[in-house]
Amino acid sequence: MRAKLVKTFSFEAAHKLPHAPEGNKCRRLHGHSFIIDVAVEGEVDPVTGWVMDFADLKKAAAPIVDSLDHQYLNEIAGLENPTSEVLAAWLWARLKPALPLLESVVVRETCTSRCEYRGA
Ligand SMILES: [Zn+2]
Repeated sequence: MRAKLVKTFSFEAAHKLPHAPEGNKCRRLHGHSFIIDVAVEGEVDPVTGWVMDFADLKKAAAPIVDSLDHQYLNEIAGLENPTSEVLAAWLWARLKPALPLLESVVVRETCTSRCEYRGA
């Protein structure tokens, strides 16, 4: 039996998108309450009954997500153009070594806009 676990994190940060088309509102400095869904997928252990301990998922991902809290994302190496897509890939690259079962990273900028990245 396989299953997917998803843990949700959040942080507040500012950014602007310097490569958005001229006149696009995202070129202006603004902020979001980002919501991040970190998903792992794997076999359910027949003894423990879980894919992994949610606490271990949190322990691995929280420091990485927290490093972005109240930052100006454009100033962080690798996030000079911090679209949701770039941010999801940035998170994936840092989460994957700690979470071998990582299946996807979802970045939600607003209630209606999100990007899902699966590492390819
Ligand atoms: Zn934005």
